[in-house]
Order: sequence, then structure tokens, then C-alpha cells
Amino acid sequence: MSAMMQPQIILLKEGTDTSQGRAQVVSNISACTAVADTVRTTLGPRGMDKLIHDDKGTTISNDGATIMRILDIVHPAAKILVDIAKSQDSEVGDGTTTVVLLAAEFMKEAKPYVEDGVHPHSLIRSYRTAGNMAIQRVKELAVSIEGKSLEEKKSLLAKCAATTLSSKLIGGEKDFFASMVVDAVLAIGHDDRLNLIGIKKVPGGTMRDSFLVSGVAFKKTFSYAGFEQQPKKFLNPKILLLNIELELKSEKENAEIRLSDPLQYQSIVDAEWNIIYDKLDKCVKSGAKIVLSRLAIGDLATQYFADRDIFCAGRVTEEDLQRVSSATGGTVQTSVNNVIDEVLGTCEVFEEKQVGNERFNIFSGCPSGQTATIVLRGGADQFIEEAERSLHDAIMIVRRAVKNSTVVPGGGAIDMEISKYLRQHARTIAGKSQFFVNSFAKALEVIPRQLCDNAGFDATDVLNKLRQKHASGDGANYGVDVNTGGIADAFANFVWEPAVVKINAINAATEAACLILSVDETVKNPKSESAQGDAAAMGGRGGGATRGRGGRGMRRR
Ligand code: ADP
Ligand code: MG
Repeated sequence: MSAMMQPQIILLKEGTDTSQGRAQVVSNISACTAVADTVRTTLGPRGMDKLIHDDKGTTISNDGATIMRILDIVHPAAKILVDIAKSQDSEVGDGTTTVVLLAAEFMKEAKPYVEDGVHPHSLIRSYRTAGNMAIQRVKELAVSIEGKSLEEKKSLLAKCAATTLSSKLIGGEKDFFASMVVDAVLAIGHDDRLNLIGIKKVPGGTMRDSFLVSGVAFKKTFSYAGFEQQPKKFLNPKILLLNIELELKSEKENAEIRLSDPLQYQSIVDAEWNIIYDKLDKCVKSGAKIVLSRLAIGDLATQYFADRDIFCAGRVTEEDLQRVSSATGGTVQTSVNNVIDEVLGTCEVFEEKQVGNERFNIFSGCPSGQTATIVLRGGADQFIEEAERSLHDAIMIVRRAVKNSTVVPGGGAIDMEISKYLRQHARTIAGKSQFFVNSFAKALEVIPRQLCDNAGFDATDVLNKLRQKHASGDGANYGVDVNTGGIADAFANFVWEPAVVKINAINAATEAACLILSVDETVKNPKSESAQGDAAAMGGRGGGATRGRGGRGMRRR
């Protein structure tokens, strides 16, 4: 396993004697298969996680896109798989392992044909048709969840989220987090900005101590003396958001003033004090009870606000300030002159609370309601990091389901059904193309097969049962049952996935496979050769035999 995790193995695959023609296609396919092998075992609820240790630290992840990114793959053809995983991640947020496995399997199925001298373009043509038919079929089979009541919708969405989370480290608490994610997504409504949902990580405690704030929460910023005397809780406060410094500037560093009379010095100092006091006065006059600034709020200001029962926080990050702004309806000001009531925000409750051993500023019950913050708790740092990535997947899935609102049965059910459909279609085709469409159909079975393998079941046995069930005509929703090792109605068991995950995965995987099949020569540029020569040497080969027009080094972009 550890050898598999090393990117070098991909380098070993290349460098066959010929780098042109059929051999090149075959060697590229082998490289892609090797990449898929690294993420293969992470698929599904029984998938294993990967621990990746590099110079940036240790990461534990189950997410295909994250693993592939960290692996830093150098093989030019295999990089395409990294790209499709990334694009799947940004387009739909889930199904990253699926897309890589599918693409590699499509290529693997094509390999014997290429070796036997079939022209890649015949394969590509058939694959494209099969891909389109598959996507069409997913669309037909997808079930809409539109038109349900809010309560019903919530529980349906929670099921989609739970399916995504079930394959992750926090799978044990999937229902707890699924409903949290659904609440968070529904809170922000149709707004497209993902950063309206904040995830804050606080090490310590247990997973169950995580909670959702229907508003904004952020870690208490650095504060000066005087802060202790400020009130820490307000009901319906007015909130002033600033982008200015409230600090007594000591101008001696960046200004030069020539004085002829030492007595004038006092006037300069006074002027400085007047400026800051004037600013502070204006803040107080605005009626705000909470003052936040993206820039520093100094000790003088802190004490000044404390004396007037006002809460303040400086150096709030841009992102948090923006979220406070969208939540409370306040607008960030760059000057304190003329602060009118309209630019002040408000919320039902503001509170500074202890969470673990951090203090948090929490704004809840915000009028626009368009923000939510999940405060994540848990043991190790790596654990919380992975939990955050998993929640990200779940959030994306729920958002997709809200937008597209069609779902398909998971657990390999939809893949088996499409596979069956394509096989049936293949029988009606005359000529070689029949084999190619059949191969495409067979490749789709990689998902249920891998789900079985990862759960330790006899894949052949389960797949036979599934094929039989799907062929019988009324088993379209049957997929792998990861609990018993048999087959089960995935729909009835609420193993659901948004249709868009599958559509996007099939589409991207087909495109990637066709792309790699259509490349029969790699041209290297000498500069990148020297850079990659070192990497190749590390892989243990990289000798003279692999030089020449080897597979390395072509820049794809
Ligand atoms: P990906 O990165 O592709 O999303 P995952 O590790 O999340 O990979 O696994 C997703 C696969 O696991 C999907 O095919 C999904 O249908 C399947 N799956 C998730 N939960 C279950 C379950 N409870 N039973 C069977 N299959 C499941
Ligand atoms: Mg997933």
C-alpha cells in the first residue's frame, strides 16, 4: 500500500521504449490506472482513509480530490485525472473518487483493443455515444423531490447529506451532521456565495459538541486592556462595522514636523489626541453597542468603549466582517463621519462565549438570516481538518440537491442500471462498436465492485446478484448493501445521491478517457526534462533507456 501512495510509481510506468503510436497510448493508460489505484480503496462508506505525510504536514483524507492534489502527480497523462477530480470537486463537490475510478476503468477496458490494433478513434466514437446515452438514462431515472413540504424536503435533503457523510471519518455521526448541514444550507437560501456558511474549527471536545449558529461566529480577536470591562452580551444591539484604525498613531515614525518653539510640541500631541477622541466620540454617538473593525482598535479606544458599555473588536478578518455585514444588514464604513442609522446592523443576540478553550463572538438571530456558522469540535487537528472537508462535500451536495432537486439511488444501483441499459443497446448494434459499448457498460460496474471490495465482500457474487436483479426488470434501485454484504433497495434505504453527481462524473470520465485515448505522442521540452529528470531518478529508474522521446514532460497547459 505504501508503495502505491508514492507518486513515483507513476513515473515507473512510463518510459517504455517507444513513445509514439500504440505503445504510447498503452503506457498512458497504465499510468492512469496506477493513479486510480491510489484512491480506489477510499470509495464508499467502508472505504479506507489515506494518511499522507509531506513537507507541509500530515493529512488524513478520504476525499479523492484532496488526495490527488497532495500526491503531486507528475505524469502528463495521469495529470488529466487529477484535473477531472478537481473539476468534479468544484462543480458538484462530491463524487471525486467516482470520477477517477470511472475514467481509469473506461481506459482499462479499452486497453486490450488498442493493443490488438483497433484504432483509438473507433473506440472514442463509441465511448462518446455510450456516454451520452448513459447521461440521458440517468436523467430519465432521476426522481424529483420538488413540490414537497419544507419538513419533507428537509428530511430528504438530510438523507442525501448522510449518504455523502457515510463514507467519511465522521460517518458515525452522520445524522447529527446531516441535519446541521441542511439547516445551514437552507438558512442561506438561494444565495450563491458559499462563504456565507462559515466553518470554525475548535480543537477539543467531542464531535457531538459541534453546533450550528444561525448567524455569524468567529474567534475573539486580539484585545487590549479594558476589554474585560466591556459587556459581553447584548440583546438587539446596533452594530457598527468599520474599516479604519482606532488607534492613537504615534506619528514620530512616519512624519516630520519642525518646531521652532518647544512649547508647540504639546499642541501637536493634543491634535493627535483630538483626532482619535473625535473618531471615538462619533462611534459612540452613532448609538452602536458593538463596534467591529477590520483594522486595529487600540488600547485607548478599548478603554474608551468600555467606559461607555460598548463592545469592540479589532482586526476582524475580512471574510468574517463580510459575513457579519450580510447577516446583520450593516455596511462596512471607511469613515466615522456621518454614520447614519441605515448603515448600522443588528441582531437578536450578541454574545461572547467560551467554546472549548477559545472565546467566540457570536451573532445570532440575524435579520437577513443569510448566514450560518458551524463550529466544529473534535480531538486531533487532522481529524477536524478532515471533518471540515467532509462537511464541505455534504454542504455542496445539499446545495446541488436544493438547486436541481433530482436524486438517483446510490450504492452502485444507478451504475448497474445504466450498465444493463447499455448492454441491451449494444445488442442492437452491428459491427465492432458493439464490443466497445459493451466495454463501456462493463466499466460502469467498477463502482459497485469497488464498494464490495472495500467492504470485504465477494464482489463477483454480489455483482451477479445485482445483474440478475436488474435484469428481472423491477430491480432498478438495487445496489450494494454495505451492512449485510448482500443487495438492497438503495432508494428504500435512503442511499441517495443528487443526479448531478453521476451526470457530471460520467461526462467528465468519458471526456478524460477519450482525451487520453486520442494522444499517441508526447513531445518533451528539454527544460522540463532536466527538472523532471531528478524526479525520475528518485523513482529508481530514469536511466538512459527512458530518455529520448519518453512520455515525460509535455506541458498540457
Ligand atoms: P466519492 O469521492 O466518489 O464521493 P465516496 O467515498 O464518497 O466517493 O463514495 C461514494 C459512493 O459510496 C457512492 O457511489 C455512494 O452511492 C456510495 N455509498 C454511500 N453511502 C452508501 C451506503 N450507505 N450504502 C451503499 N453505498 C453507499
Ligand atoms: Mg462522497
